Amino acid sequence: MHNKRTIIVSNRLPVRIERSNGELLVIPSEGGLATGLGSIYKEDGNIWVGWPGFVPENENEKIEVTEKLKSLNLIPVFLTECELEGYYEGFSNEVLWPIFHYHPSYAVYDEWYWNTYESVNKKFADIVMEQEIADTDEVWVHDYQLMLLPKLIRASNSRISIGYFQHIPFPPDELFRGIPWRDELLKGLLGADLIAFHTYNDTQHFLNACTHILGLPIQNNCLRSGGRSVYVEVFPMGIDYDKFNEMAHSPDIQRRAQEIRTYYNNRKFILSIDRLDYSKGIIERLRAFEALLKTYPEFQNEVILYMLVVPSRDTVPKYKELHDEINRMVGQINAVYGNNEWTPISYFYNSYDIKELSALYVASDICLVTSLRDGMNLVCKEFIASKEVENGVLILSEMAGASKELIGPLLVNPHSTQQICEALRTAINMPEEEQRKRLNDSLEIVKKFNIRHWVRLFFKRLKEIKSIQQEERARRINPEILQKFLTKYSESKKCLFFLDYDGTLIGFNNNASEATPTNDLYEVLEDLQSNPNNQIVIISGRPHDTLSDWFANKQYYLVAEHGAWSNYPEFVWHTKTHISTRWKYPIKHVMTKFTNMTAGSVVEEKNYSLAWHYRKVQSGLGNLRAQELVDHLRYLLPHHGLQLLMGNKVIEVKNSELNKGRAAMEIVNDFKPDFIFAIGDDATDEDMFLELPADSITVKVGSRKSAARYYIETQEEVLKLIKKFAQPTYHTVD
Ligand code: UDP
Repeated sequence: MHNKRTIIVSNRLPVRIERSNGELLVIPSEGGLATGLGSIYKEDGNIWVGWPGFVPENENEKIEVTEKLKSLNLIPVFLTECELEGYYEGFSNEVLWPIFHYHPSYAVYDEWYWNTYESVNKKFADIVMEQEIADTDEVWVHDYQLMLLPKLIRASNSRISIGYFQHIPFPPDELFRGIPWRDELLKGLLGADLIAFHTYNDTQHFLNACTHILGLPIQNNCLRSGGRSVYVEVFPMGIDYDKFNEMAHSPDIQRRAQEIRTYYNNRKFILSIDRLDYSKGIIERLRAFEALLKTYPEFQNEVILYMLVVPSRDTVPKYKELHDEINRMVGQINAVYGNNEWTPISYFYNSYDIKELSALYVASDICLVTSLRDGMNLVCKEFIASKEVENGVLILSEMAGASKELIGPLLVNPHSTQQICEALRTAINMPEEEQRKRLNDSLEIVKKFNIRHWVRLFFKRLKEIKSIQQEERARRINPEILQKFLTKYSESKKCLFFLDYDGTLIGFNNNASEATPTNDLYEVLEDLQSNPNNQIVIISGRPHDTLSDWFANKQYYLVAEHGAWSNYPEFVWHTKTHISTRWKYPIKHVMTKFTNMTAGSVVEEKNYSLAWHYRKVQSGLGNLRAQELVDHLRYLLPHHGLQLLMGNKVIEVKNSELNKGRAAMEIVNDFKPDFIFAIGDDATDEDMFLELPADSITVKVGSRKSAARYYIETQEEVLKLIKKFAQPTYHTVD
């Protein structure tokens, strides 16, 4: 028996390997993610797959490291220098990183980068697959270096749970569109069941990319892909609150913090910590600090900007340029404003251990985060977690994910030198009481939504999604369900088939008049009707003369305009003459107004209904106008006893007495069938699904929420399904 296992996959393993006196040492990482996932991957049977941050010099080193990591539940993916260059430095850091941080002009679209990214993702997938994954296992893929991995794993197992979390932002879809391999990237992620980001904006950008670029159907935050519901959710990542909080209280750290304060003569201590990166707004911060000294000379000699920049990616040219620019600006500000007693900026290009960081957080009066774009920004949360006792002020860029979550920081637009400068002044002068109040508001959030909470929530949601998918699958018509239908059918004598037309018997066409029946459709319907036990009813929202044109001289019953017209029982059209149409004038007036301001939209007038079609309107605008039209119409409807239907790219207003449910039941009550099959794809078909007797076989095309008992995924499957009834003698299921 296979126990459920969890497999974590990320670019880096939570360790680094160091060569020391001819020996290879495995040193655990202190990062938040490693802590948060520690309780998961260290559990028996679970593993973490990733690059160990080390390129072995020979096969023996490879074996040695693999062995050492195995005992820690870590599985290494070894990469060559060349692979690292194309996949990591190249595609990840020179294509995805700049685009995802809203810097499209920095992107280098090199075909070789892409090819290497693809092959390294495959390498990761192969190693995951070697772990003999089972249906019940869960895989959690981390971050933008592995965007193709969910699809690759899915290809080898359709049932397994796959979650993906992206630690960096997701850009607006029009920025993302520029990537030549955008479709592959989106499809890669859609192999997952749960795709999560730090902020609501990121999720919306991703959903927009899927609908606008891939044209995927969407309902709220749920996409349909490969026959699965894929959920896109917000999971702002937390930090190891307890660790930072405890360190801040410890006597060692308190002593070190006091040392730092004394060293800087108890001046107002402004702290900034980030990796060397153009997304962090380091230049903007320096400009603002200079503006502070210039605009408010009284602060000269009184403040210190302690700026720690952690070396990162300095082989990439843009990073090298940034490094040079920081050096130049720091030198210049210090030279212009500094004196013998005071150097305004203490700049360190270095990496510190966590204790030193903690002491800096405790010692600082102000933490200044000016990211131009940041997925979350953990530094600001670590500062907050270190301030349970000491006071301090957080100045936070509104472009950092944390700004959407925290309550209390002074928010700034990092592109505005003046705003940062003023925020610094406000922070320097902020009364202790206000500092405490603001810190407490943030503390509460950082404490509750800590890293462990984040991990728990993620897995909980992944499980929920799996069970939603299972329920959905149970309603999806499969060979077994189909066999049940056919058995019931073969035992019946009087079978009634309600078939919706558009989107069911025929796929959508941008020109409604071109969606004419195909020969294939005619043949299937003829076969079905040729069995004397069967009776077809085509039930549609189309005008009755259109249905007459298409199905003249057939032995099918036709119901048009959602029941306003019917040729049951004598194959002669009749209509509900008592129904008023006076309402059409005001409604048509409103719809025409919308048509006049929306290129591509048209009003269709039927005897008892009016429809505003927007299939040809640019995507996005069509939905917006449709929503506005609905808002307008809402007030008019009750006066006239009307019903509004929001169909597929159409808004239809009709008399509420008319609906497919009522029309279908009029036939059922008279015809008295012993077998009913009804199939449809649109909102109007729901009335039919709801009103038909409970033992009817009702089938929704497309799996969106529906009152139908069953569903099939696409319109293309409809004829195949109907054919099964049209050829009853075979009764085979494939
Ligand atoms: N950090 C570190 N050593 C340093 C400076 C920073 O370990 O010398 C850590 C810091 O504690 C934080 C992380 O690096 O947890 C930076 O995360 P953040 O989200 O702020 O930025 P990122 O580098 O992920 O863009």
